[in-house]
Amino acid sequence: MTVLEAIQKSAEFLGKRGVESPRLQTELLLAHLLKMPRMKLYLNFDRVLTVPETDALRDLIKRRGLREPLQHITGSTSFCGYEMTVNRHVLVPRPETELLAEAGWQFLATRPPESVTALDLCTGSGCIAIALAAKCPPAKVVATDISAEALTLARQNANGNGVAERIEFLAGDGFAALATAATRAFDLIASNPPYIPSAEIADLDPEVRDFDPWLALDGGDDGLVFYRRLAAGAAEFLKPAGKIMVEFGDGQADALKNIFESEKWIVEAVREDYSHRARILVARR
Ligand code: GLN
Repeated sequence: MTVLEAIQKSAEFLGKRGVESPRLQTELLLAHLLKMPRMKLYLNFDRVLTVPETDALRDLIKRRGLREPLQHITGSTSFCGYEMTVNRHVLVPRPETELLAEAGWQFLATRPPESVTALDLCTGSGCIAIALAAKCPPAKVVATDISAEALTLARQNANGNGVAERIEFLAGDGFAALATAATRAFDLIASNPPYIPSAEIADLDPEVRDFDPWLALDGGDDGLVFYRRLAAGAAEFLKPAGKIMVEFGDGQADALKNIFESEKWIVEAVREDYSHRARILVARR
């Protein structure tokens, strides 16, 4: 079987299994298997796959057909250009979260470099904390998560991206994790907390429902439990003129504004994702 034939056959299979963008997904898996950039496949359409390659591709396509996320199969994803290893213990970093990280490091760049600090609550894979530390070299960053397994992976990702010495990783539930923190006053508090209403988790795509950790998705009855905690607890850890930036789910913008305003925050901006849905709230005291 040639590369082109393998792509066509596999894409058809994935399409029947309800996988979105089946051809792209196939090409990414084959490129991963053959250790070449995806575009290079196009120069190799006539290449005949070896029997071991065909067998290995079949296995990968079968896993994807069972709706295992591409990033779990390849073991990593790119976040703001930094490679993040992912596994079952962390949410797969999403493109819209890159916008939160970008807003974060742009703000950090305006703060006095000799003392600049950031906190990433619910760090998961560590993606936000790592991008902030990498883009803002003077920054000291604290990253927290309730899951010890997630923190192990986040530390590994920080090492892999050369920023581990500037990120303090702390286990704990929300602000309680800061009890032993070396830094307790931040220029920026960033968070992409779990925000799916509990009852809606069952309706998510299988890639999310069956493979992202439930802990990283479940935002309680109305999906907003973590924002209430953030709005009530964050001011104590914010420097004067510091900002909080949080990602939230599609349709939650008005509720988010109310939650923060009723805790005396001034909502400065609500930013949109790539599909023009309001997804990030920026607030200060
Ligand atoms: N901060 C991580 C991310 O944005 C994890 C978020 C989460 O687990 N809810 O990917």
